[in-house]
Amino acid sequence: MQDEVRALLILQDRDRRLLALAKDLLKLPQDETRAKAKLAGDEAAVAKAHQALVDCELRVKKIELDAETRRTTIKRLKLQQFETRKNEEFVALGHEITRYEKDLDEFETQELVAMEEVDGFRAKLKAAEAALAQTRKLVDEDLASIAQRHAKMEADRAEVLVERDRLSLDVPESLIPLYQRLMKIKDGLAVAPMREGKCGGCHMKLIASTVMKVTSGREIAQCEDCGRILYADD
Ligand SMILES: [Zn+2]
Repeated sequence: MQDEVRALLILQDRDRRLLALAKDLLKLPQDETRAKAKLAGDEAAVAKAHQALVDCELRVKKIELDAETRRTTIKRLKLQQFETRKNEEFVALGHEITRYEKDLDEFETQELVAMEEVDGFRAKLKAAEAALAQTRKLVDEDLASIAQRHAKMEADRAEVLVERDRLSLDVPESLIPLYQRLMKIKDGLAVAPMREGKCGGCHMKLIASTVMKVTSGREIAQCEDCGRILYADD
């Protein structure tokens, strides 16, 4: 193999590593999004449990208000009853008081039931919050590991970049533009092996003169189909 092709191959190896690193780096934001998405379900559960608690507390307040209204009414009716001198009115007021007291009794029972429900909803909210905290811990670990991978890849990239710049000095300057153009348009593979008379890049059978050119190794040979620079790998 010619020295310049060997130098190109080594350069291509580093460039391919850089391409792979760039591709992996592009995937990191997706990994981050995926990790954070795990929180959404637990966050929704906490919001739902919180809403249920608030609704129930409001219900307790409403029952309390209703009960309080009845108490005020009963007080007023009792005063009226105390003040009246008409026996008929006294009896009628007594009936009304009994009716309101029954109402009040009903509301007090409802209030007790609703307060127990509040306790239940509070416990459910606590459980949902604990589950969210647990998930958040896992997600934070995921995010930390992603950040670690990110830092490692950036360090690798910086290292390989320095190396590739040094190695590019071993390649004749006249070959660089062709190499770079091929890297760009041929999927990061500018230099390909020739195996059994075929181009290792596009797998097309090469014409005899190209095979000869590659085998002799005296000049740069390119695949007549895809244009890749070829070397003998037999
Ligand atoms: Zn080819």
